[in-house]
Amino acid sequence: MGSRFDITVVADDETNANVEIDRAIAEITRIERLISSWDANSQTSEINRNAGIRPVKVEAELFQLIERAINISKLTDGAFDITYASMDKIWKFDGTMKEMPGEKEIANSVAKVGYDKIILDKENSTVFLKAEGMKIGFGAIGKGYAADQAKNLLMAKGVPAGIINASGDMNTWGKQPNGEEWQVAITNPMDKSKSYGLLPITDGAVVTSGNYEKFVEFNGTHYTHIIDPRSGMPSSGIISVTVFAPKAELADALATSVFVMGVEVGLNRINQLPKVECIIIDDTGKVFTSDNIQIKKL
Ligand code: ADP
Ligand code: MG
Repeated sequence: MGSRFDITVVADDETNANVEIDRAIAEITRIERLISSWDANSQTSEINRNAGIRPVKVEAELFQLIERAINISKLTDGAFDITYASMDKIWKFDGTMKEMPGEKEIANSVAKVGYDKIILDKENSTVFLKAEGMKIGFGAIGKGYAADQAKNLLMAKGVPAGIINASGDMNTWGKQPNGEEWQVAITNPMDKSKSYGLLPITDGAVVTSGNYEKFVEFNGTHYTHIIDPRSGMPSSGIISVTVFAPKAELADALATSVFVMGVEVGLNRINQLPKVECIIIDDTGKVFTSDNIQIKKL
């Protein structure tokens, strides 16, 4: 998935631990083959190739992932949208962009975006992207989904405790061998040597979005690689969003969404969701937390 996964398991001995870790890796690889839009052989690529042409039959697993992604779009008023992917062409966040795309170019790229243009046929298990040139991508939800699946698999195999860390998308279950809960340190992105606080995570996920390597800067504004599907503009103003949720998939998608929604709308939406909390750091270093978060200050 173009990201690093770290897997930790609690086991009686190293041999058993390695068997379980290999199992998790195999599961993550399997999911990558299904959802990657880089791999030309994936069902996701087949959906994209047939945009505006015909519906594509897919595995139930992919169909359901797309269904859930659409539900998150509805939950976030379209801030999260897997059809964001057709805007990829005009924004490059690797330092190669020298000037901002023109208004017309931005408007054209948004024309192909919209989760309402994904046509799902449950009976036939097909997915059809209505507009030619439309594309879906799981960049903001796939890591979380893979982490959830790997965790579920190991739990089902009887692994008592562990951590699946998908490049900062953390998913835990059980307790540390010493009986204590897993804890996650929240670092301040303005000063990575300083930890802002510690939070216990019991059988849940914590995801931080805010990739400091992927951004562009124009006229003094820092734009991140998360694009508002409604305006076609990359988001600015927030530098890091951490979301706590029972599942990594939802946490992953919501962390991305809060970037687009902004501090006020983002906090408001998170406060309405049961068992979901967040920490937002804006570009002045100010920290905002949702209503029910308790951080043990270091
Ligand atoms: P990171 O962990 O790299 O900060 P995120 O989980 O926040 O990443 O996801 C960012 C990625 O999501 C982008 O690189 C892109 O692939 C995709 N993306 C960008 N904007 C949106 C959006 N509005 N809705 C859904 N996916 C998006
Ligand atoms: Mg995300």
